[in-house]
Amino acid sequence: NADSAMHQAKEKGRNTYHFFTPDLDATAQAKRAIERDLRHAIKTFDEFHIVYQPIVDLETGQMKSAEALIRWHSAERGLVSPDQFIPLAERNHLILPIGEWVLETACREIKSWSEQSQTPFRVSINLSSRQFKEDNLPEVIKGVLDRTGFNPNQLSLEITETLMMENLDEALKMLHELKAMGVRLSIDDFGTGYSSLNYLKRFPLDTLKIDRMFVRDVTTNPEDAAVVAAILTMAHSMGLEVVGEGIETKDHNDFLFAKGCQLGQGYYFSRPLRIDEFNLFAERSEYEGIS
Ligand code: C2E
Ligand code: MG
Ligand code: MG
Ligand code: MG
Repeated sequence: NADSAMHQAKEKGRNTYHFFTPDLDATAQAKRAIERDLRHAIKTFDEFHIVYQPIVDLETGQMKSAEALIRWHSAERGLVSPDQFIPLAERNHLILPIGEWVLETACREIKSWSEQSQTPFRVSINLSSRQFKEDNLPEVIKGVLDRTGFNPNQLSLEITETLMMENLDEALKMLHELKAMGVRLSIDDFGTGYSSLNYLKRFPLDTLKIDRMFVRDVTTNPEDAAVVAAILTMAHSMGLEVVGEGIETKDHNDFLFAKGCQLGQGYYFSRPLRIDEFNLFAERSEYEGIS
């Protein structure tokens, strides 16, 4: 049943914590060095760009929207993964200028692309917990929308469930404020956190993204299959749109679609693409605009 499947999901989330016994000094030093380079890099943002990963209709293969993902190509270090520098940037507040840069750049690039192709396009942008906890987040987003002329209903903000559960009342208030601005709200990496279904109902969400951890073995692991089915049942009863993350094979695609998942994202369709490659992908996939 749904509750025991969700319980398994949580257990699985918990099992992903790894315990290291690192040489703390070396680790701390390495982090400080990355932080120093990061501070330098955000003076100009020259070393950053955004890649866009298509979000696709599982039935037709048509692109419906895309997720913006930041890339840092450091002169010193080469390509640094966001999983490495975003958590660091969160701890020292550098995420605030970085997050605003992502919002502004993605809105500008997608607006320009929408105008060229004359099709309104929706983009999803990740918010970090630090950004979300800033009281002025709505003003920051409004500023970006004003400066870029981007339509709020073309913007979807991705927030993780752990973030929402940390401070429920504050989170609810913020979500309602954002919603009132006309933007869409997605819950990212769903299944890895600790949300209770009761709480989830209270959030003004539009979209739920199933974490790729549950998609990976969904066709072979009955527990994962049960979790995914339970998430889909619950999401549909709440009227949420669902995106399966990490779709890498046709089997993933077909399985999720058979269980009622409409949308997916993953290497099976496309890796995250630079804006010029993304334009080509969109042309090929006969993108028809948001419904
Ligand atoms: P996320 O938001 O869950 O993004 C999805 C991640 O899964 C991306 O990793 C994407 O490249 C990867 N992915 C997509 N399809 C597949 C697939 O089929 N198989 C596998 N194995 N992976 C797939 P990426 O770009 O390295 O980003 C990692 C995380 O870093 C993101 O997870 C997000 O939490 C964070 N992040 C990325 N860009 C930003 C940003 O601009 N702002 C913030 N706050 N966080 C970001
Ligand atoms: Mg995301
Ligand atoms: Mg995700
Ligand atoms: Mg993630």
